[in-house]
Amino acid sequence: MTSSIVRQLVDIVGADNVNTDPAEIYCYSRDSTPFQHFADIIVRPLSTDEVSRVLKLANLNHVPVYPRGSGTSAAGSPLPVKGGIVLDLTRMNRILSFDQENLQVVLEPGVICDDLNEFLQKYGYFFPPDPASSSVATLGGMVANNSAGNRAIKYGKTKDWIMWLEAVLPNGEVIHTGSKTLKSVSGYDLTKLLSGSEGTLAVFTKIGMRVQPLPEAYRTAMFLFGDLDKAGKAILKARGAGVVPCAMEFLDRLTVRTSAEYAGLDIMDCEAMLLIETDGVESAAEKELKIIVKAVEEMNPKYWKIAEGERERASLWLARKSAYAALARCAVTTTMEDMTVPISKIPEALKRIQRIPERFGKIIQIATFGHAGDGNLHPTFLYDERIPEQREAFFKGLSAIYNEVALDLGGSISGEHGVGLIRKDFVEKEHGPVEMALMKGIKRIFDPNNILNPGKGKPWGSTGEPEVI
Ligand SMILES: Cc1cc2nc3c(=O)[nH]c(=O)nc-3n(C[C@H](O)[C@H](O)[C@H](O)COP(=O)(O)OP(=O)(O)OC[C@H]3O[C@@H](n4cnc5c(N)ncnc54)[C@H](O)[C@@H]3O)c2cc1C
Repeated sequence: MTSSIVRQLVDIVGADNVNTDPAEIYCYSRDSTPFQHFADIIVRPLSTDEVSRVLKLANLNHVPVYPRGSGTSAAGSPLPVKGGIVLDLTRMNRILSFDQENLQVVLEPGVICDDLNEFLQKYGYFFPPDPASSSVATLGGMVANNSAGNRAIKYGKTKDWIMWLEAVLPNGEVIHTGSKTLKSVSGYDLTKLLSGSEGTLAVFTKIGMRVQPLPEAYRTAMFLFGDLDKAGKAILKARGAGVVPCAMEFLDRLTVRTSAEYAGLDIMDCEAMLLIETDGVESAAEKELKIIVKAVEEMNPKYWKIAEGERERASLWLARKSAYAALARCAVTTTMEDMTVPISKIPEALKRIQRIPERFGKIIQIATFGHAGDGNLHPTFLYDERIPEQREAFFKGLSAIYNEVALDLGGSISGEHGVGLIRKDFVEKEHGPVEMALMKGIKRIFDPNNILNPGKGKPWGSTGEPEVI
């Protein structure tokens, strides 16, 4: 990073928004994975024009650029593995318009998910994708990772709600993908391609998305099981009950214990918990939950109850949403994985995950929770990254999760967190050489100098190649 480039960055965004202070650089060196990488400089643009000028300058000088929202990634995807610029987009955090007739909202990428929903709630609407990090994750990060969360079983992922994007290409050119209409097949769907591209193809500067009227009512049931296998099979029963709930979450023994304590809930000893919610007009939410309860009862839960009122519902969700934070209090390092299997394979996946720590003499632990109704589990490793045997056991356990559980059972290495750094060794096995070559070709068209988020598994796989910079 030459002093001339730093001077030009200052000209573009102003001295207050360029930072090379080591303490500041340190703060941007991690996300929620065990990796750490340091940028040369942090740059905080405020407009599309500033983003465009920063990228143009970086591209001319072959300087790597790493877009970043709130840094809650669970994949290492915003980390500056090759130094260069971290492009912090959190100052671009305005909701620009809400078109109630067309049910569309336009916003900048730094808007926080919960802030958007607080805004929409005033009008009786909501944006359904609901990651457990919704109080801090930005919409830019959510689009880049195609984040999903608790309501995906009924409402889909972020990608399903994005209608168009304003995005800046690595050479500084600004493009507008997609359409304001509900249907359009007038070209290849670049909006869908960019959603989930993990900051490797373009930087989003405006997002146009659909929203949905808020449901009139929610009904929530908690089921506790004395047996992990029965809990797994209950997920299949609930899935096959003939109605679609808006959430179906799973928590294993360790997760229930720690998150209940964290949320101040008194929950009896159990091997697993299911949290299932329906929504819609009141009578429908009520009726659909009853149908699900009947189906789950066939697997003999040791206890179940329907939340009485909004307060009890909120405390159950607090426990679920704080699962990762609660587990983080139990070990020096907590690394949350992300795998999906066809839902019929959930009981087998749970069994296989549970056996992994035994291989390493239980020097590491795994707590599992996740969006079970989508087949999406988050086995979370608890260990101490400073102790070499534990770090080694973690990486071997990681390989077992993806090779021996997710891929072996016909699943995917990431349901919603992305490839980033942590899953780069497994991406080629899932996609094979022909698909990988197509993805690399797409990257080269967008970013021939490989300046945008270089070194990551998407699209380069295990090597993080190529070394163009
Ligand atoms: C406690 C916890 C719970 C979580 N729960 C869930 C969950 O339930 N569901 C789920 O899907 N995820 C979950 N996550 C993962 C994470 O929160 C999401 O991936 C989130 O959407 C990331 O948003 P962010 O603003 O933190 O992005 P960052 O972590 O800053 O960046 C994520 C990626 O987006 C890119 N990026 C950021 N902004 C832009 C932009 N404007 N243009 C282009 N690229 C950009 C970055 O380069 C990076 O590749 C969880 C994480 C934590 C820590």
